[in-house]
Amino acid sequence: MAIKTTDIAAKVQALKDAAPRLRNSTSSERCAKMKALWVETRARQEDLFKAAHSERGTHDLDVAAELMMIKSEVDYMCKHLAKWMKPEKVKNSMATMGKRCEIRRQSKGVVLNMAAYNAPTAESFVPMLASIAAGNAMAIKPSELAPQSAQIIQEIVNKVFPSDEAEVFQGGVEVAQELLKQPFDHIYYTGGTAVGKIVMKAAADNLASVTLEMGGKNPVIIDETAKLENAAAKLAWGRVMNAGQVCIAPDYAIVHESVKDEFQTLISEKINALYNSDGAGLDKSSYVPRIINERHTSRVKSLIDDATAKGASIVSGGNADVKDNYIEPTIITDVTEDMDIMQEEVFGPVMAIIEYKNREEVLQHIAPRTNSLALYIYSTNDDNIEYFLNNTSSGSAVVNNNCVQSGTNPNLPFGGVGNSGMGRIGGYEGFRTMSNERSIVHQPLDKFRDFLIQLPPYSERYSNIIMKAIKK
Ligand code: NAD
Repeated sequence: MAIKTTDIAAKVQALKDAAPRLRNSTSSERCAKMKALWVETRARQEDLFKAAHSERGTHDLDVAAELMMIKSEVDYMCKHLAKWMKPEKVKNSMATMGKRCEIRRQSKGVVLNMAAYNAPTAESFVPMLASIAAGNAMAIKPSELAPQSAQIIQEIVNKVFPSDEAEVFQGGVEVAQELLKQPFDHIYYTGGTAVGKIVMKAAADNLASVTLEMGGKNPVIIDETAKLENAAAKLAWGRVMNAGQVCIAPDYAIVHESVKDEFQTLISEKINALYNSDGAGLDKSSYVPRIINERHTSRVKSLIDDATAKGASIVSGGNADVKDNYIEPTIITDVTEDMDIMQEEVFGPVMAIIEYKNREEVLQHIAPRTNSLALYIYSTNDDNIEYFLNNTSSGSAVVNNNCVQSGTNPNLPFGGVGNSGMGRIGGYEGFRTMSNERSIVHQPLDKFRDFLIQLPPYSERYSNIIMKAIKK
């Protein structure tokens, strides 16, 4: 149930009051909380499946894969947390000779986590695990577009945590805006770029640090040496999964002219083979979920309509049933820069295709949408792969696959760059994101190491040391 905006400040203050206590918690206490969160999430698995099915028509196994991300973070963090929390000794420099230097990773205080709707449980709990690991209190604002999931998330959190350690704030934009006025120490945001800018501006008022996990248009490059059938199968999956409502989904493909026609045919065939294997129709498939609501369904449909009105051609798909929140998986070709589909993140099961002749042209196509969250390269030519990796920028990149870089390996930090975001989550990097990395210098007080040579009036010896050092 949505919270009254007038109740928010007091609840955030309770979290603030608990923060010093949590800062001094041990790794075992933090792990016990992480494990309890997982146990309760697992206990509510069937309810989470039902909620996702009712909200987006999601297959149970796809929700289970989302839950797997939470489980693997709990396991990994609990295995390493005691070591991460230990003060890290660092080497001395000439200027700190004789002193003891270390870094301590301490909690920031209270973290706000604002989540998107497309993977509501993982987006609420993966950042929450990092926050608990670092010893923070947390406020979670789940997306109002997935209200059934949000209700279960709240029930799970209420069961595991006292309300001054973690609190879920359900509600829409007005709740988000009231939360953004509160003096959080860190804001972790997942969502679109437009709201990301609002979040960053609000964070400035309290000088809260921010992590922005945003979206954008993820390009796929398919060169003339790519294993086309293999690429087509992986991209059909990457584009149709969760009805395209995945931040790292392949958004548009830039395909070498010599293989474009064949690739278009192959990916259309693969969509049919993967998602319509019984021939009952893509709209009947239990693997093709729905768009979250009518507004977003109309938005995706209008991207197709705008492109075809301006001269693009549908290779396969193209139908929609807005009342049923259904967009048929669609491949659309001959798209140009003036079409909305090249300006806006699709976030639906529609892939636009552009043709290129030489690899410099690929960079020109990507340039207006640089700094994507992900970039995918399909090629068997090492020189081309290095060229594309070295001349583009994105939060992550995958060669000859897609959508395998997030939530799959805690040693691979996940996040965006520029337009797609800032900051990292996952494993140790998630712990660091939620920590204040505090540099500490211990000065021994014996006469051999506690020399006060830098105090005025400056001695000739001090002058010699400094002048020699800058001359080197
Ligand atoms: P959204 O930006 O509409 O909403 C995200 C959150 O912001 C919600 O909690 C919402 O209540 C809040 N919000 C909305 N309008 C607001 C306003 N005016 N002021 C303050 N808060 C406001 O995003 P969405 O539609 O739920 O999610 C889709 C987007 O999220 C896509 O762009 C997708 O790429 C991105 N995403 C990114 C990642 C990632 O890890 N990088 C993961 C999932 C989704």
